[in-house]
Amino acid sequence: MPSLKDNNADTIAAISTPPGRGGIGIVRLSGPSAVAIARSLVQLTAPLEHARAKFTRIVDTETSDANKQVLDEAVATAFFAPHSYTGEDLVELATHGSPVVLEAVMRAALAAGARLAEPGEFTQRAFLSGRLDLTQAEAVHDLIAAKTLDQARMAAQQLGGALSRRVAPAKETLLHLITLLEAGMDFASGELDDVDVVPSAQIAEFLNRTRAQLEPLAASFTRGQLLRNGAALALVGRPNAGKSSLFNRLLARDRAIVTPIPGTTRDTVEETFALGGIPLRLIDTAGIRLTGDAPADEAEAQGIARSREALADADLVLLIHDATTPLSDDERALMKSLEGRPNLIVHNKIDLLQSASTNSPTENSPSDLSSRPESAPFADVAERPASEAAPIPTSALTGEGLEQLRAAILDHLKASTTVETGALTTLRQVEAVHAALAKLAQATEANAAAVPHEVLLLDLHAALQSLDTLTGTTTTDDILGRIFSTFCIGK
Ligand code: GDP
Repeated sequence: MPSLKDNNADTIAAISTPPGRGGIGIVRLSGPSAVAIARSLVQLTAPLEHARAKFTRIVDTETSDANKQVLDEAVATAFFAPHSYTGEDLVELATHGSPVVLEAVMRAALAAGARLAEPGEFTQRAFLSGRLDLTQAEAVHDLIAAKTLDQARMAAQQLGGALSRRVAPAKETLLHLITLLEAGMDFASGELDDVDVVPSAQIAEFLNRTRAQLEPLAASFTRGQLLRNGAALALVGRPNAGKSSLFNRLLARDRAIVTPIPGTTRDTVEETFALGGIPLRLIDTAGIRLTGDAPADEAEAQGIARSREALADADLVLLIHDATTPLSDDERALMKSLEGRPNLIVHNKIDLLQSASTNSPTENSPSDLSSRPESAPFADVAERPASEAAPIPTSALTGEGLEQLRAAILDHLKASTTVETGALTTLRQVEAVHAALAKLAQATEANAAAVPHEVLLLDLHAALQSLDTLTGTTTTDDILGRIFSTFCIGK
């Protein structure tokens, strides 16, 4: 990381507010000349003070010196090194949020010697100056990208150092073992070289403790992942079962926060909405044919293939069955193929059943109906193993059962999305923990095989280094580049 530090002689500048018009817009400057450059852009009546907002005016540096125009009123706030976000001198110029003014301020800043900031460079500088560790820098990115409050909470925890704190005990244990072994080796290399200083049983105990501390952390990723990326929910069923209608019903209430996902195929209709703080991608796999007919053409065949992929990737599959019809062979086959995977069976169009059984209005739940001889559709359901959840009766037409369906979806996902303190949130972090665990496993084997401690120590140091890359205590420019390039400019 020191090689990146050299860049910090530069002063960087960027518009830190989102593109477009807004109430205010902020240009942020960071680096040794931040204050000097800011002063050349504004008319200040008094010097900038640390963390004090100063009312000022932006001057139009592009007009001739004789008649300098005022471009905008602004508030300038300086934060002096090391007490700033980046750890360097940092100035924020808050103007009215006009893109034209912000761009003029940027041009003037660049003309005065600032350099346009790279994506994530402010946060990268915060990391390089030791203000944030790597997991915290990643959390800044996640916080900004959060689509639900739970995601934001998780990122905020990580920003507060939750993950680093969670790794700390494992690092402690490992470091303790390394120290013991190294001390032992120094000892052994002296006169008493036949003394077995650290018994292998004690080493094994240390190794086990470290692994026990890391294993739950490694497992935390999948859970965190659902919360970060959302869960994929696939709706499957025969044509006309009511998939599209239920899809729209599920989306209807939460439509306000629906965000289209760029780059997804339109063969499967896909929308994102939030249910209980969990972002859900709802996939209507209309392309799947349950009937086994050959696809009409190449395009349809591709659509079917993509739908099947969507189904394979789904975190939860909703099988929509038209409750007015008997279960068909292809539906049975589909149910079988879903065994062992999270799925919910939905019996849709129950409004039609209710109007058919006018003389017994209370018998309108499938479990009641399934005991009745004429209700063939539910006979198969009754055969399903008791461990499996009962089908959920719904009507996309009247909205009946939709709340139960929502609750059932949440129940399914909740176990896997409870916000866990200090969970791993990126593949990079998972790789680091897995690499450490692999080295610890090697060390455990080596210890059992009574290899010399010098050799054992190689594995232990490698494990420690993996944990260090997690928090960024040791890291490479390559890793930093990968992380910060995913930020937007101005962060
Ligand atoms: P898909 O082919 O599975 O997507 O099914 P659609 O959602 O397009 O629905 C097929 C037909 O069934 C449409 O005419 C819907 O209006 C109707 N439909 C869907 N759900 C219900 C329901 O719960 N009750 C009734 N009565 N009709 C429904």
